[in-house]
Order: sequence, then structure tokens, then C-alpha cells
Amino acid sequence: MPFIIAGNFKMNGVLAGVQPYAEALKAAESKAKLIICPPFPLLPAFAAALPATTALGAQDCHARPSGAHTGDVSATLLREIGATHVILGHSERRADHGETNADVSAKVFAALAAGLIPIVCVGETEPQRDAGEAEDIVKTQLRHSLPENFTGLIAYEPIWAIGTGRTPTPADIAAMHAAIRAALTDSFPATGPATPILYGGSVKPENAAAILALPQVGGALVGGASLKAADFLAIAAAAPAV
Ligand code: PEP
Repeated sequence: MPFIIAGNFKMNGVLAGVQPYAEALKAAESKAKLIICPPFPLLPAFAAALPATTALGAQDCHARPSGAHTGDVSATLLREIGATHVILGHSERRADHGETNADVSAKVFAALAAGLIPIVCVGETEPQRDAGEAEDIVKTQLRHSLPENFTGLIAYEPIWAIGTGRTPTPADIAAMHAAIRAALTDSFPATGPATPILYGGSVKPENAAAILALPQVGGALVGGASLKAADFLAIAAAAPAV
């Protein structure tokens, strides 16, 4: 399975930037699988402009297929406009919008029903890591954020590493990815052993090779450094060949 490098643009990007970004991806050859996750309004433009080998993802979806949910977007509509993936349970949504593990699980269920591949984010706060609770917190998030029929991707994103320029030690990343693998294999014997586990949190061109070489790291979820195509491609180029 190729390494997966997903770009989370968050609330960044403008329409005028879509074509140049897509052209840069077209001009490069990536041995990694690329996924671009822009804000909702840019999805159709990216769907039209991206090279066929690059996947398109949203950053959230609602748990219901339609209805009185002002400001929300359904998984079915995302699929219809060309998204194949959706980030769910990002810590910024958990913090800014009060999303619980149960909310995330319902969204994952809806995404799967609509034919989207969920990228489910888990990760601990700094006090939780300092207290030695990181693995327990992440395992609890996995247990309650993933419905019984889960398939898709997991992103381990320590909250204190997102957008801060700080990353866990290689040993800590490897230990958490091993713990996530064990939990997935326990809960989902058929798919857990092969579920890609991405690392996210201040991945940049300078540290990508070292992070992507760690055991059980199947790719990266990249925030800030995905906004420039050159940096995003440099991260993808750091992925080991498979
Ligand atoms: C993210 O928000 O998913 C993320 C990993 O951000 P950054 O790469 O900027 O730390």
C-alpha cells in the first residue's frame, strides 16, 4: 500500500489558488497517494482541477443525509461533488464545535453509508501526555469514535503538536502508532491490521522523512505545510518507496 499524504487546508485557500496548486501537483510525480482537503466551497473547483491520481477530501460532514441543519453539509452531497474522503473528529472540531466521540462515530457511519472514506483523528492534549494518559485517551477515542462497521484511515494527531512546530519524539510516535495498531486489530480483526495510520502535527519537509520511516506510520496528515504545493510535494517525496 502506498504512503498516504493528506493535506488539511483548514479555513485557508482562495479560488484563485486552486488552479496553480493543481498544476503543481500535475507537474510532479508522487509515489505517495495524495489527498487534498480544502474548505467546502473550494471542493468543486479542486474536483475539476486536480490530477486524476490525487484524491479529494472534505474536512467534516453531518451525520444525517439531509434535513434542517443550517450550515452543515451531508456526506452524500460531498460524494456527489467528487469528494472521496472526509476528515472527521479533528481536534479543532472537537474543541470549537464540541464534537464528542459519539458525534464522530455517527459521522463516520454516515460517511461510510455515502461511500466516503473517513480519516478519523485522535490525539491527546499536552497535560494528558504529561500525566502518562496519552495511550489510554487515544484508545478511548478509538473505541467510541469508530462504529462497528468502520473502515478507513486513522490520523494520530497529538493536539499539542498541531500548528506548534513541536512534535513527539520518534519513540513516542512509534509507541502510539503501535498502540493504535493493536487497538484496531483487536476491534476490527479483518481490517485493523492493514488500516493506514497517519501521523499529524507539525509535519514539514524537514522532518517528514524521519517520521514517515517509523514503524506503523502509513502516511501524514499535514496542516500548515500543505498550503504551499511545493512543501506538500516535498513531504510526499520524503515517503519511503513501497
Ligand atoms: C492538522 O491540523 O491536521 C495538522 C496536522 O496541522 P499542522 O500540520 O499545521 O500541525
